[in-house]
Amino acid sequence: MSELSNALNFSGGPGVLPESVLNEAQEAIRSVPEVGLSVLGISHRSDWFAAVVEEVERNIRQLLQLPDSHALLLLQGGATLQFSMVPMLLLRDSSKTAEYIHSGYWSRQSIPPARLEGEVSVLWDGEASGFRRLPAASELHHRADAAYFHYVSNETVEGIQFHEIPGREDVPRVCDMSSDLLSRPFDPDRFDLIYAHAQKNLGPAGVTIVIVRRDLLDQVPDGIPAVLDYRAHIKAHSIYNTPPVFAIYVVLLVTRWLIEDIGGLERMATINQHKADALYAIIDSHSDLYRGWARPENRSLMNVAFELPSTDQETAFLNQARVMGFSGLKGHRSLGGIRASIYNAMRLDAVESLCAFMEDFATQARR
Ligand SMILES: *Cc1c(COP(=O)(O)O)cnc(C)c1O
Repeated sequence: MSELSNALNFSGGPGVLPESVLNEAQEAIRSVPEVGLSVLGISHRSDWFAAVVEEVERNIRQLLQLPDSHALLLLQGGATLQFSMVPMLLLRDSSKTAEYIHSGYWSRQSIPPARLEGEVSVLWDGEASGFRRLPAASELHHRADAAYFHYVSNETVEGIQFHEIPGREDVPRVCDMSSDLLSRPFDPDRFDLIYAHAQKNLGPAGVTIVIVRRDLLDQVPDGIPAVLDYRAHIKAHSIYNTPPVFAIYVVLLVTRWLIEDIGGLERMATINQHKADALYAIIDSHSDLYRGWARPENRSLMNVAFELPSTDQETAFLNQARVMGFSGLKGHRSLGGIRASIYNAMRLDAVESLCAFMEDFATQARR
């Protein structure tokens, strides 16, 4: 077996984390400098951890320019639990209809739990077009009285990403940003509810960020268990029960890295754009060999999915890539093909190494 390297880990999720964060996390497992104890054994009721939660919230608020109208929570259960929590809290006992876009693998998972709670209308379905594109605003016929409108900003599996915010301004907008939150700036005031687990772009698995407009919660029905009610978590400052202390600590390190090392979301977005441009340029310049999955205007800046003409060639590509130290490039099991995930922590020089490998592979394939 050859040695794999973190720097060349293009995994779709859990994704790569910055080297400096891994070093600090390693040290904290032995002992958190300002405490003297392992992060794995510090009480979630300690002053130290209360300060960690407070700083994570402050850092994310600063990065997103989040207004006070919105609460920020650190929850468990991943994005999948949010697929159920959202309709439980916003659709149950309502006479209104919730609108969903079915744009790929992850939005597909979000719809059945909503149907358990009330009326759902699928506004647009990308299945017929093979989930290679996203709808234009003119294709979405929204109702004015929807309970809410739900979409996935970046379909991680197919590598398609909204570059405009869909929906109406007078209907609550709900978005699964699991694979692109904090990868670029956007106006959070246009969203009523955002959720994103950490393990693609923000930290390790175990913690999920929820950002919710406080007044959206005035209408929550009775009979929801407190652990599934955002209001209980707001009241408890995200320490309702034992939270994933280590995962939250690593998210703190990642937010510090974004602020101090990267310099904020504008800078992060510029770097992410360079990485994506480099990869798509190689794909486009060898279109006989590499076939990009997404329609160009819907290409994701986080997940670059492409195919080769045969599965034999894909296997050869993956095997040779592995010998060179690259990992995580096999496409999602539902789609096949190749996928390079280039989350925030993936460095531009690593993407350039992948581009060089793809160039060599293409030259070799032509012989
Ligand atoms: C990975 C992913 C999910 C699934 O998240 P879990 O934390 O495993 O529940 C949901 N939505 C998107 C957009 C994803 O990328």
